[in-house]
Amino acid sequence: MFNNLSDKLDKAFHILKGHGKITEVNVADTLKEVRRALLDADVNFKIAKDFTTRVKEKAIGQDVLTTLQPGQLLVKIVKDELTELMGGDAAGVNLSGNPSVILMSGLQGSGKTTFSGKLANFLQTKKNKKPLLVACDIYRPAAINQLHVVGEQIGVEVYSEPENKNPVEIAQNAIKHAKAKGYNVVIVDTAGRLAVDEEMMTEIANVHKAIQPQETLFVVDSMTGQDAVNTAKAFNDRLNFDGVILTKLDGDTRGGAAISIKSVVDKPIKFIGTGEKMDAIDIFYPSRMAERILG
Ligand code: GDP
Repeated sequence: MFNNLSDKLDKAFHILKGHGKITEVNVADTLKEVRRALLDADVNFKIAKDFTTRVKEKAIGQDVLTTLQPGQLLVKIVKDELTELMGGDAAGVNLSGNPSVILMSGLQGSGKTTFSGKLANFLQTKKNKKPLLVACDIYRPAAINQLHVVGEQIGVEVYSEPENKNPVEIAQNAIKHAKAKGYNVVIVDTAGRLAVDEEMMTEIANVHKAIQPQETLFVVDSMTGQDAVNTAKAFNDRLNFDGVILTKLDGDTRGGAAISIKSVVDKPIKFIGTGEKMDAIDIFYPSRMAERILG
């Protein structure tokens, strides 16, 4: 995960580690390399620029050059800023409802259905919850089947109404079903399109309004780089979602989405997907991720 970015940042800090006495020029060169590494990882230009400006201000504020180990202190400042950029503290999901309703949003192929299963499995095995999965994709019968397959794998019931073409009704009926059967979490998997379009946005906004979920999550494929950030912005404008799920972090992703998304939509990344299996889910800890990136 983020190997390329890690290598480049490591190289950037070599500039400092190689010198007996560190000068302002060395620090400036290092920060230039840090910025370049962020840009190469697909971090948006302004975010990368602001990031290095903040690091520089902190370095000056803490008199980095007069300390015993200026290189180490600068690495620490970069790590702290990177943590802050990705969200500061880890954020949980709101499970206060009875049942708690979680609405999944995102483009087709982002990993929504897979993640719905992973989340149900996580809540069932780690949080002692009784989840119900709901198939609300009225366009692709294959998507409904896919959720049933996932549900069978993890032993979670899947609610669907293959003949019903009204996603608001399906979601509302599912919540009624959950109440009657004693399920305390309802995870609603919605239809996704290949690109953001008005019809899809209106449909999911209608479902959102009708079921008033405790938690609306936006799922995005981390491999899509800066596009991930643009899609997040479009969904957030309509749904004002509560958190982001970054999938496919096990692939060869450059990391830009993980680093940029929080500062663009100001919503935390809550979980990451790290594989196709049902247990490939991790809570997102910004500090651990920064640690991983900086080695
Ligand atoms: P949806 O259209 O948004 O519901 O997306 P799917 O859940 O069907 O996922 C699309 C593809 O991505 C499937 O082949 C999944 O197996 C795969 N996938 C989903 N999440 C991950 C992940 O975290 N890592 C990897 N490597 N593949 C994933």
